Amino acid sequence: MGKRFKSGICAYCGAPGSTADHVFARSFFPETLRDDLPQVAACAPCNSEKSKIEHYLATILPFAGNHPLSKPMLEKQVPRRLAKNGKLHRTLAEGQVGVRWTEGATEQSSFGIPYDHDLLLGYLRYVAKGLARAHWDCTIPQHYAVSTGLVTAGQNAILRNLFVGRGAGYARGNLGDGLILYEGQQAIDDPSLTMWRFLVYGGMIFSDQDAVLDIPRDLWAITAKKPIPGLPHD
Ligand SMILES: [Zn+2]
Repeated sequence: MGKRFKSGICAYCGAPGSTADHVFARSFFPETLRDDLPQVAACAPCNSEKSKIEHYLATILPFAGNHPLSKPMLEKQVPRRLAKNGKLHRTLAEGQVGVRWTEGATEQSSFGIPYDHDLLLGYLRYVAKGLARAHWDCTIPQHYAVSTGLVTAGQNAILRNLFVGRGAGYARGNLGDGLILYEGQQAIDDPSLTMWRFLVYGGMIFSDQDAVLDIPRDLWAITAKKPIPGLPHD
């Protein structure tokens, strides 16, 4: 991991890859916490498509963050980004809504912002492939589906049990003092069957105004021969 990457084949599409791509963009982290982020080889088109999503997410994620570093990120880096993107700025300013939810016996409230959920899930498709490469030098075949989604607390408890070290490979990462945490597991009989779980910015709360008890905070990505029913996939 770290700065090492093997040039050659793009981790995302299998085409010849000539650039080094940070699996998670440097802009997701404060400037002092950008060393040692996983990198992989990528082709120029994938690198460019992916970085468009990263520009968007770097602006959005700190708003939804639940991590102590979200606030300084929001104050220092987001205004600079919003100044360059008037349309996104207006969408965020006009779209804020009050959100209430219940945790245990406590009622919580905050504000929510609209964001492009499909873009975030699409991003995780890149990330799953990138991490499989960075940790296990595994290139996910192009005909494999990458399913992504949110997992509610209840579903998460079930899925957690799958991470018991039975896989061929197990990986975990703590990037930027916990701003992004992940773990991944690789199946024994198929190295390209991988499963990833992400906690981003301390657990973003995904909800609408009808939020109920079981609030999704975790994001998942699964690379498999066939799409996982019920999860969006490419
Ligand atoms: Zn590519």
